[in-house]
Amino acid sequence: MSDVIEYQVVRSHRKTLSLQVRHGQVFVRAPYSVDEKFISTFIHKKLAWLKSKIAQQNQTNDFCCDFSQGSTLFLFGKLVTLQIIFDKQARTVLTDGIDNKQVLTIVLAERNQKKLSDKGLLATAVKTQIEKYFKQQAEEVIPLKVETYSQLTSLNPSSIKIRKYRARWGSCNNRGELSFNYLLMMLPTYVIDYVIVHELCHLEHLNHSKEFWQLVAKYFPHYVEAKQWIKENQSALLWRLSSD
Ligand SMILES: [Zn+2]
Repeated sequence: MSDVIEYQVVRSHRKTLSLQVRHGQVFVRAPYSVDEKFISTFIHKKLAWLKSKIAQQNQTNDFCCDFSQGSTLFLFGKLVTLQIIFDKQARTVLTDGIDNKQVLTIVLAERNQKKLSDKGLLATAVKTQIEKYFKQQAEEVIPLKVETYSQLTSLNPSSIKIRKYRARWGSCNNRGELSFNYLLMMLPTYVIDYVIVHELCHLEHLNHSKEFWQLVAKYFPHYVEAKQWIKENQSALLWRLSSD
């Protein structure tokens, strides 16, 4: 392994240096006063730690998202194994497997089997079908939960949309419209609940002020745990596929 590590320097008015590894990339947060040489010496000292952190994150990314036979992904906070088969009609079925682990069977249409002998095309087809499944689940689950928490909080959105976002779980705009990412179906139920309460609270505070977090805490006291779950599993929740 080489001793050279690529990193990106983010300058600000902060007073100390800090290192962060995200999605296998190194970020150095540094004050304006510190020179490049100091930063590279700092990186060198932390090399072992950085390398293990990068390796760890790359591994997590690999395991989650290649949409191949036998790979795993999160569904309601539990890892499920993907099984890919061909039959007359395409469908997606969730069943109990051995070891308490569930199996998500992606049945693809037989007529496409020849075309899908290409690994990349197969992964894309599997991913598309899983997204469709998640969207269907989300359309059942999310409106019911929004209704429950609307009653609890007396905060009522003007509309709810379910769609795909790359980098966020939900959003709220100044017209009171809430949108939710259907990939929320990967999260444990209590984390989905947290995201819903979070967006509902934006109907009162369209920011992340202290008052906003107080309101979240009032209706969802375990919000710190929920945020922590997302943070810890972040890399496994990213859908990475070149064709995306
Ligand atoms: Zn927010």
